[in-house]
Amino acid sequence: MGDLMQPLSFGHLMSWALEELRLDGSVFGVRESQFWHPEPGRLITDSFGDRLASPVGPAAGPQTQLAGNILVAYLAGARFMELKTVQQIDGEELRRAVAKPCIQAQDEGYNCEWSTELTVPQAYDEYVKAYFAIAVLGRELGLGTVDEVGFNISVGYDLEGLKGDKVNSYIDDMVDASATPVFQACRAWVEGHLAQLTHFTREDLDTLSPRVSRSVTLSTMHGCPADEIERIAMHLLTQKHLNTFVKCNPTMLGYQFARDSLDRLGYDYLCFDDHHFTEDLQYTEAIEMFARLSAVAREHGLSFGIKLTNTFPVQVRRRELPSEEMYMSGRPLLALSLSLALKLSRDFDGGMPISFSGGVDAFNLRQILATGIQPVTVATTILKPGGVTRLRQLASLAEEVMTDYQGIDVDRLAALVEDVLGDERYHKRYREKILSRKTDSPLPLTDCYKAPCQDGGCPIHQRIPEYLKLTAAGDLTGAFDAIALDNTAPTILGVLCSEPCRDHCTRLDIDQAIDMRGVKLAAADGAQDAFIEATAPPALLTDAKAAVIGAGPAGIAAAMFLRRNGMDVEVFERLEGPYGIVEYIIPGFRITREQIERDYQLAVHLGVRFHFGCDPGYRVEELKKTFAHVVIATGSWGRCPSPVREGDDNILDAIDFLWQANNHEGGATVGQRVAVIGAGDVAMDCVRTAARSQGVQEAILVYRRTEPYMPATQHEVNLVRSEGLTMEELLAPVSYDGATLRCEQMRLSEEDASGRRSVVGLGTYLDLPFDTVIGATGATVETGAYARNGLAQDARGLAEVDSVFQSSIEHVYVIGDGRLGPSTIVRAVADAKTAVRAILHHEHLRVDYDVRPAKVERDQHEVHARRGLLIAAINGKAEGDRCLTCDVICEVCTEVCPNRANVAITVPGFADPRQIVHLDGLCNECGNCGTFCPHAGLPYKDKITIFWSRETFDDSTNIGFLPLCDGAYLTRMPDGSVREHRTTQEDLPEGMSQVLAALEKDYSSMLAAPLGAQS
Ligand SMILES: Cc1cc2nc3c(=O)[nH]c(=O)nc-3n(C[C@H](O)[C@H](O)[C@H](O)COP(=O)(O)OP(=O)(O)OC[C@H]3O[C@@H](n4cnc5c(N)ncnc54)[C@H](O)[C@@H]3O)c2cc1C
Ligand code: SF4
Ligand code: SF4
Ligand code: SF4
Repeated sequence: MGDLMQPLSFGHLMSWALEELRLDGSVFGVRESQFWHPEPGRLITDSFGDRLASPVGPAAGPQTQLAGNILVAYLAGARFMELKTVQQIDGEELRRAVAKPCIQAQDEGYNCEWSTELTVPQAYDEYVKAYFAIAVLGRELGLGTVDEVGFNISVGYDLEGLKGDKVNSYIDDMVDASATPVFQACRAWVEGHLAQLTHFTREDLDTLSPRVSRSVTLSTMHGCPADEIERIAMHLLTQKHLNTFVKCNPTMLGYQFARDSLDRLGYDYLCFDDHHFTEDLQYTEAIEMFARLSAVAREHGLSFGIKLTNTFPVQVRRRELPSEEMYMSGRPLLALSLSLALKLSRDFDGGMPISFSGGVDAFNLRQILATGIQPVTVATTILKPGGVTRLRQLASLAEEVMTDYQGIDVDRLAALVEDVLGDERYHKRYREKILSRKTDSPLPLTDCYKAPCQDGGCPIHQRIPEYLKLTAAGDLTGAFDAIALDNTAPTILGVLCSEPCRDHCTRLDIDQAIDMRGVKLAAADGAQDAFIEATAPPALLTDAKAAVIGAGPAGIAAAMFLRRNGMDVEVFERLEGPYGIVEYIIPGFRITREQIERDYQLAVHLGVRFHFGCDPGYRVEELKKTFAHVVIATGSWGRCPSPVREGDDNILDAIDFLWQANNHEGGATVGQRVAVIGAGDVAMDCVRTAARSQGVQEAILVYRRTEPYMPATQHEVNLVRSEGLTMEELLAPVSYDGATLRCEQMRLSEEDASGRRSVVGLGTYLDLPFDTVIGATGATVETGAYARNGLAQDARGLAEVDSVFQSSIEHVYVIGDGRLGPSTIVRAVADAKTAVRAILHHEHLRVDYDVRPAKVERDQHEVHARRGLLIAAINGKAEGDRCLTCDVICEVCTEVCPNRANVAITVPGFADPRQIVHLDGLCNECGNCGTFCPHAGLPYKDKITIFWSRETFDDSTNIGFLPLCDGAYLTRMPDGSVREHRTTQEDLPEGMSQVLAALEKDYSSMLAAPLGAQS
C-alpha cells in the first residue's frame, strides 16, 4: 500500500530534525537559509482574535497532514496553520474513497481528495506533535514562540459526525491537550532532552499551554444544506466556545457569474453544470444565516467570520485525475473568491471578517492583506517548485503590510477585483499553451539533475544555464562563445526563435519562464561583431567537399558546421541573397535586415563559399562528381492547402503575400479590407503585415475555433491582440468569390478523449466583404526536385530519410523545412547538426559541438536561496540571474512533495551533489512530484525507495530497501528481483550501494521504521 502514510513518533521526528540540522543545515529539506525570521515582538491580532507573528500559512490540505509538513511550513514562515480537515470518515475508509494520484497542480490546481487520510486520532497526534516541535525548534532556532502561531481546526461535514465521540473528543483535546497521551509523550521527550537543547528551557516547557487551538473553520461539503451548516456553526460557537469561521463555496456566486468570469479569464474549457450552484448554500440564505451567527458569536464574546473559499468543483474531462469530479484551486479561483469576498463585504458593509485562500501567491498577497482580509492561506502555490519555501517570501511580504484586524476596506477590495479581472497574470494565456513541462527522458535512479531547457527543450542543446549565468555576470564574450558553439544564427534566433526551451523551463511553474531569447540577443548585441572580426577560415582537414543546396537557416547551419570542422563547402542558392524565409518572407518589422546580415557574416568569415542566383534545377548526379556530400535544404515554399471549399483561385497564398509585402516596391496591394484565414504564426505575421499595408483599413483574422486552440505561440497571438487587430473566432470559411467571404458559424463541442474541443457547424452563415483573403493554413514542400533527382519519397512526396537525414541516395541529405514541412529556424539548425555529425564521422573529423561542457559553477547556497522566490521577468541581462541552474541543483521533487517523502541526501562520488531517495512511509501517492519532475518518469515510483514495513515493500514494485530487524536488508533490485543481504555481504549495483552506505552513516533516521510499522 504505497499510499499508506506511517507517522513518525515525536522522538523520531525530533531526532531526525536535529540530526539533519546538524549534518546538512536543514530540517526535512528546508535549509537554514530558507527559514523565516520574524521581526521580534511584531505581532498582530487576526480576525479570529489570535495574536500572530504573521497572518500567512498553509491552507487545510495536503501540506497540513503530517507533523513534519506543518513544522517545515512554520520554519519557512507560516504562522497560521489551517490543519487538514477531520471528519467522521477517516483512515482506511477514506483512503479507499480517494482515487490516486489525487493532485494535479501543473497550472491551476486540481485535487480529488478531501479530509485527512489518517485516522482522526492519528491526525490529532500529528497536530500535537507539530505544536511541540514548533515550540521547541522555534525557540532553538530563534524563530519565535508557539503562542504566536495559530492552529486552526478544520472540521466537517455533518453535525452528527461532529458530535460523535471521535470528532467531538478531537475538538475537545485540541482545546485542552494536557491529558492526552501524545501531549504527555511529547512533553516527556522534551523533558528528557532538555540538556541537549540550548534555548528551550524547563520554564518554556512548564509554561507551554496545553491549548493547541483557539479557532475552528467549518468545512462545508458541496451540497451541505443551509440549516445543517447553521446547526454545526451554532454548536461550535455555543457548545465548543470556539472562534468560528464557515467556509463558503464559490458556487454562492451563481452559475452564470462563475461561467462568465472563468470564460473571460480564458478557462472556457472548464466543464461544470449548474447542479452544485442550485444544491449548495444559496447567497441570500447565507447572508441571513451569517448575520444570525455573528450575533450569537457576539453574545458569547467570540468571533464569527467566513472563509473564502472552498475549491471549485469541475468535471474531469482531460484525464487530469482518475475521478469524475475534481476541485479546482489556484489562479482562476482568485477572481471568484475575491468576487465573493466583495459581494459579502458590500452586504455586511465591511463588517464580516474574512479568512481567505484561493489563488494567493507572492504577486498578490500584499494587495489582499491591504483590503483587511486575513489570515491568508495557500495551497496551490506551495505545491509548485520551491514548495513550502515559498512561504518565506509570503511571510516577508505580509510583514510589510500586516496590521491588526480592522474590518474590510470595501472600496479597496472592489479595486482589487477589477485589477485581477483585467490582469494578464490571471488569464489562462499568461502561462502560454504548455500543458506539461516534462521532457521524454527516462528518470535515472541516481544523478538525475538536468536543465530541461537545454536537455529536452532546445533542439540544438544550447548551453543555456551557462550563457544565462555569463550574461548576467556581464561576460558577454564568454556567453556568446557558449552560444555560438551550438547556434549558427545567434542574432536571428535571439529575435525569432520559437523557444521550445521556454516550454520546459522550471521557472514556468514558478512565475514565468526565463526569456532565453532576449538574453541571447543581449549577448549577440554585445559580442557578435567582435566574434566575427576574430573569426578566420579554419584549416581544411580533408579533400572531401560538400555542396549545400539552399542558403536558408538549415543550409547555412550545415555549411558552417562543416566548414568549422575542416571541410570545404559551397552553397548554391536560387535567390540573390542568404537566409531564405527569414530574409525574404518574415516581415521586416519582426527582424531587421542588419540583424540577418550579422549572422550571415559569421558564415562568410568562416570561409563558406556562397553562390547566389543559381539555377534551381540542381542535379545531384552532377554535384556528386565534385562533392563527396550533398545537403539539400530547400525549405517549404509550396502553396497552402485550400482554406475554402469554393473559390480557392481567389485566395492569395500567405507566402506570395508576404513576398510581395517584403520585396515589392511599396509592399503588397490588397485593398481596404483584408481577411487572413488561419491561426498559426504565419497567419499572425500575415494579419500584422496586412494591417501595415498601404490602403488597408481593416485586417481581420478568421479562425474556426477559439483563441486557446490557436496553434500560434501565445507570444505571437498576444502581439496581434496588442495591435488591436480583430480575431473572428468560430467562423469556418466556406467560399470566397473575390468580394465576399462566406463563413459558417461554429460552436465548440464537448471535449474529445484528448481534451480538445472540436467545432461543429451551426448551419448558419455570415457573408463578409473583403477585398483580399489570404490563406495561411500551412505551406507545403515543393517535392518535384526530389522526384527529378531520384530520391525515394513517402506518400506525401517528402524525401525518405534515415535517422541522420540521409536520403535513399548515399551521402545525399535532406534537412530543414524541406524535410519536415513548415517548421522553425531552430529545428532547421538542429537538422543540420544531425546530418553534419554523420558527414564528419564519415570523414573521421572531430565534431566541435559535441564537446559537452562541465556543469555550470554556481554557488549552491545562492541557488538555494533563490528557490521559492517568485521574481517577475526582468528586462535585460539580469534576467539570467532568475535561472535556477537546474543541472546543478534540481531537487524539485523534494520541494513539491507536500509530505516531504522525497529527500535529497549527500552521497560522495556522484556527479550531482545530492541524490534523491524516496521514503515510502511518508508518501500518499498524491502524484505531485511526478507532475513536476522534468524527466518522463515519476520520482515516487522510480527513485531508490526506503520501506518501513514488509507489507508496503511487498505492495510496491519500487527499487529499494526494507531494513530488517537484524541489520540485514530486503532489497528490490533494478531487474525486479528481491534478495536479502547485509551491506557488506553482497555487491549492490553501482549507485545503490553508495546510497545505502550514506543512509547508514548519516541518515539513520530515514532507515528506522516508525513504531508499529516494523517488519
Ligand atoms: C511567415 C513566416 C514566419 C515565420 N516565423 C518564424 C519565427 O518567428 N521563428 C521561427 O523559428 N521560424 C519561423 N518561420 C519558419 C522558418 O522561417 C523556417 O522554419 C526556416 O526558415 C526553415 O529554414 P530552411 O533553411 O529549412 O528553409 P528556408 O528558409 O525556406 O530556406 C530554403 C532556401 O532554399 C532556397 N531554395 C529553394 N529551392 C532551391 C533550389 N531548387 N535551388 C537553390 N536554392 C533553393 C530558398 O530560396 C531558400 O533560400 C516562419 C515562416 C514563415 C513562412
Ligand atoms: S531555470 Fe534555468 S536551467 Fe532551469 S530550466 Fe529555466 S533556464 Fe533552464
Ligand atoms: S512523493 Fe510524490 S507522490 Fe508521494 S506524497 Fe510526495 S509528491 Fe506525492
Ligand atoms: S525532480 Fe527529483 S527526481 Fe526529478 S530530476 Fe529533479 S531531483 Fe531528480
